Amino acid sequence: MHLSTHFWSSVVTGIALYPREPHKATLLALAGVLVDVDHYVLYALRSGEWNPVEALRYNQRRAFPPRSGETRPRYGPLRSRIHHPWLTLPLVWLLSILWPPFRPIAQGILLHLVLDTDLHLRLDWRVWQRAQGRCEGCRVGGVAVAVHYVEPIQRGGPLWTLNNRTLLCESCLRVLRKRKKTA
Ligand SMILES: [Zn+2]
Ligand SMILES: [Zn+2]
Repeated sequence: MHLSTHFWSSVVTGIALYPREPHKATLLALAGVLVDVDHYVLYALRSGEWNPVEALRYNQRRAFPPRSGETRPRYGPLRSRIHHPWLTLPLVWLLSILWPPFRPIAQGILLHLVLDTDLHLRLDWRVWQRAQGRCEGCRVGGVAVAVHYVEPIQRGGPLWTLNNRTLLCESCLRVLRKRKKTA
């Protein structure tokens, strides 16, 4: 997920949940963005490059295939354990029960992981309703289907637009991804 998406969704959620408590709204927004510090640290450790500007540049490039003549390697998803929801969320939940001031931070982390794991995409009822449970590629029903982005977010596809979401079976998804690769 884009850093800017995390930033804006955290700010909006913070203001919505705590309209009269700016320090809590700020904590939520900070937590919602700073979860991604693990990408930066892992990037720096693997590449030996600690300049955050370079890290941001790499972050913008990494979803695209290397340009001709580009020698810099790709480092994969660069996710630490913080990004595993089933590890982080119980811990964060427990902490916010034991220590209530931690709650806005926990909400920020939860929001971040929901966006990163595409939960908002997979559970989008608008798509399920439009497709009525059938694959929108081949119109076959009764097969395993899931919601996917038509144009991946990392490549500039819109995040919330219904038109960029589609319910597909496994084989139609493969066809779509292949077409996008050669496009
Ligand atoms: Zn993240
Ligand atoms: Zn299909």
